[in-house]
This record gives sequence, C-alpha cells and structure tokens, in this order.
Amino acid sequence: MVNKVSEKSNVRANVKVEDVKLYINGEFVQSESRTTFANMSPFTNEQINNIAEGREEDINKAVKAANNAFKNTWSTMKISERMKYINRIADVIDEEVEEIAILEAIDTGLPISQTRKMVSRAATNFRFYAKMVESKLHGEAYQVDDEFINYTIYKPLGVVGLITPWNAPFMLETWKVAPALATGNTVVLKPAELSPLTANKLAEVIHKAGLPKGVFNIVHGFGETAGASLVAHPDVEAISFTGETTTGSIIIKNAADTLKKTSMELGGKSPLIVFDDADLDRALDAAVWGIFSFNGERCTANSRVFLHKNIKHQFVEALKERVSNIKIGDPMDPSTQLGPLIEKGHYNKVKEYIEIAKQEGCEVIQGVIPEEFKAGNYVPPTLLLKATNDMKVCQEEIFGPVMAVIEFETEEEVVAAANDVKYGLAGYVWTNDIKRGHRVAQAVEAGMLWINSQNTRDLRIPFGGTKASGIGREGGHYAIFEFYTEPKVIHVAIGDHHIPQFGKKK
Ligand code: NDP
Repeated sequence: MVNKVSEKSNVRANVKVEDVKLYINGEFVQSESRTTFANMSPFTNEQINNIAEGREEDINKAVKAANNAFKNTWSTMKISERMKYINRIADVIDEEVEEIAILEAIDTGLPISQTRKMVSRAATNFRFYAKMVESKLHGEAYQVDDEFINYTIYKPLGVVGLITPWNAPFMLETWKVAPALATGNTVVLKPAELSPLTANKLAEVIHKAGLPKGVFNIVHGFGETAGASLVAHPDVEAISFTGETTTGSIIIKNAADTLKKTSMELGGKSPLIVFDDADLDRALDAAVWGIFSFNGERCTANSRVFLHKNIKHQFVEALKERVSNIKIGDPMDPSTQLGPLIEKGHYNKVKEYIEIAKQEGCEVIQGVIPEEFKAGNYVPPTLLLKATNDMKVCQEEIFGPVMAVIEFETEEEVVAAANDVKYGLAGYVWTNDIKRGHRVAQAVEAGMLWINSQNTRDLRIPFGGTKASGIGREGGHYAIFEFYTEPKVIHVAIGDHHIPQFGKKK
C-alpha cells in the first residue's frame, strides 16, 4: 500500500497512499454505490486518499460472506489448523510493522515513535489469543451421583460485528479481531471513518496470511449508515463496540430489536491522585505521559489530576516546565512527542473546551506550537490550573491534551471528588503508604486502577469500565468466555434415573 519507506522525518514526502476499497469475501472491492469519501491528513488538512463508502447493501454482502464462511469452513476447522492462521496473521504483522506504524501516523497524527510501539503489540494480541484458546478454552464437568455427568462446552457465536474508533485504531481493532477469530467466529469490521488506512492494512495482512474467504471482512463507511446496518442485521450475533458513550447507548438501543449481545468500551474522565508522600518524580512522569501521549486522545487518559495541597505548588511548577518542553512536531519525526489531533471538528471541540475552562475560572497554561505546523490540527499541551471538580471541563470528556489540576486535602474528600463524575474507566493512585494505596484504589469507582504506575497493559486481565465507561470487559479469558463464545450444557444420563411417567396406566 505504501510504495517507499524511510526512517527520516521527511518520510511523508516519499509515501504514496493508494485509495482504499472494502474487503468482502476475500476480495478488495468497490462499494455497491461506487461512492467514496475523502480521507484527510491531520497534519496538513489536505486529502490523503479516497475511501470506498460502504452502506447497507455492502454490509449485507459482507454478513452473507461471513455467515457462509462460519458455517462451511471456520467453525468446523480443527483448532490446530485455525490457530496456524491466527499465528500467521501475527507473523505477517511482524513483517509489516514499520509500514503499519507509518500509515497509522499519517492517518491519525499520532507520533511515529508511539505508533511503532502500539503496532508491535498487535502481533502479540493474535499470538496471545491463539495460545489462550488452545490451552484455556475448556468447559466444566459435574458428576451427579451415579445418574448424570453434566458438562459445558464453549461455542463461537457466529458472525460478530466489530465497530472501532480512530484514536488507536490498529491496536484496538486487533484487540477485537484476534479473540473473535481465534474462538471461531467470523467477522465484519466497521472501522472509524477517520482512520481507515491501518484497518485496510489489517485486511491486507489477513489476505496475505491466507485465511479462507469471508472469515474476515471490512466495510468502511459512516457510523449512521454502515455501522447502523451492521448493528441492525439479523444474522449478526453480537456487536463489540469501542467509542463514545453516547454512540454506545444508541447501539445498545438499536441492537435490542434483534436481541444482540453487546460489549461496550466507552469514554472516560479518569482521576490521577497524588498524595504528599508519593514519589513525586515518578508521579510527574506518569501524569504527563498519561495525558499527553496519544495526543491526549486516549480513553484512559488522566484528564483530572488531584494534587495534595502540601505538594501542589512544587508539582504544578514541574508540570509547567514539562508542558513547555514537550516536543510538538511532525508525527513522522521520531523525536515528536505531541502531534496534531485527528480532524478539524475534533480540534474545534477541544479548543472550545479550553475557552470554557477560561470562562469557568481556570488559569490556562500551554506549550507553544511552532509556526511551521500551523496547517495541522495542533492543540498545545494544556494545563487547566485552579480547576474544581464540578466544572464542565472536569466532568466531560475532552479527548485532547488537556489536564485539569485540582487541589485536595483529605483522602475522603479526594475519593468523593474522583467518584463525582459519570465515567468510571480508569484511575491512578500515587502514595508510598501501602494501606492507603489499596484503600483508595478500591474506593475509586472505575474498572481499572493503577497504584504507583502509569497505564500498563497485561493482556491476561480484564480491560474495561464501569458507570458510563462501559459494559463488559475485553482481554484475557473475559473476551473468550464472556463475549466471543457461549456456554452450552450437555446433560448425559449415565444410569436409570427417575423419569415421571405421565399418562402411564398403573
Ligand atoms: P464514536 O463513538 O464517534 O465512533 C466509534 C465508532 O462507532 C466509529 O466507527 C463510528 O463511525 C461508529 N458509529 C457512530 N455512530 C454509529 C451508529 N449509530 N451505529 C453504529 N456505529 C456507529 O467514537 P470516536 O471514534 O470519536 O472515538 C473516541 C471515543 O472512543 C472516546 O469517547 C474514547 O474515550 C472512546 N474510547 C474508549 C476506549 C475504551 O476502551 N473504553 C478506547 C478508545 C476509545 P464513524 O467513524 O463513521 O463516526
């Protein structure tokens, strides 16, 4: 897809990105309507390429192909053979990792040093689920005296619909595709309209890995048309969704008509709490990285930082220094730490929130965007000082490089404030008091807590949120047992147990 690859920061000039088609039944095809939409560069706001726009008729074709593949090849294949395909996908990702990282940076504005790390984790996702399904996907067996053995097996659901966002597209897509395929389901993926390049690359990777036709399909297009048709399709058994909370709620409503199973990974407004006994240098590194990496477009970002009043002054001074030094630059430059936001609309939304913060009484401290990058959707790293938790900018997800800083005095007060928000995705606690660390982590209402750490991922444990941040979990055995398969119980009579004899003459 990319015709030349270079390590240099001017790599963009050497890259020609081709137009993107849908991937249905093992072929790259135009949409039925032949319509396309423009894919824009976050860095220049110029068009990168054209993307085939899938609609209901394309979703129907993709679901039909996935259904045939499920019934005729994928679900009946020996597990060892299926896992060879899954491992082959991982091998091809490894071979193409640099090209995928470049495409992701071009498409999303995420710095190349960060896309390289994310993309290399994608191959691990496939290997992890191949191993997990082979070794862990087993049922239970119960003996009932000498009358029964009852046992469970875990069956794939059929065709699953995966709907993904633009903020870490390749990694998030593989989080869903890997367990879905490994457990024996077939897939129709509707990627975000704003980040189609690496989704298309995933189709190329899977094509190269030689998976049977129809096992994996991609329909690019808009959420309200392609996405909604996937959700409504009667032959799609489940929808795994990552995106905004409001979209998740629409999808749950729409999925109800066909009684679909849904998994929801939604927005966040996560607290990071620094007590006065914490290792402040490490807390500072984590706080800065946790909001300014991924350009701040990160669901688990620590967008609310609570500082104990005794350390607030020194911590804020250190934050100011970091913010002024963060390297804003071309996403293709390996030294860039912060790139442009995904698109103009989102850029305007984040800028509006910064204006709201000023109106609400925050002191706004920002880095400076070099003149040469003015064409891109750059929002400088931003601190909102003198924030209080009740402000709109502390209650709503901004999804940009914007950190609100809030002072606290007592543990009770900070836990109450951390929980006084509709979201519950992640939380971070910094203290050297081990009892307090556990206490606070257990009291913060969120699906995932880290004590004395930034967000690190362990694929074996559940990923997901509570409250308005989601329903269900991804990762580990949660994905394979609780979402992508269904238990089936088989009761086996091994003796002559009693059967009521209705209607039998005495
Ligand atoms: P959106 O909710 O706008 O979009 C996500 C996906 O849903 C896109 O593919 C979108 O299509 C599609 N979609 C939109 N409307 C519908 C519909 N009616 N029916 C079916 N599909 C639809 O989210 P963003 O892409 O803006 O992503 C950012 C959000 O994702 C943030 O809130 C972030 O917190 C959250 N997120 C959560 C994570 C988690 O694990 N909890 C991880 C990463 C992000 P289209 O692109 O055309 O709009």
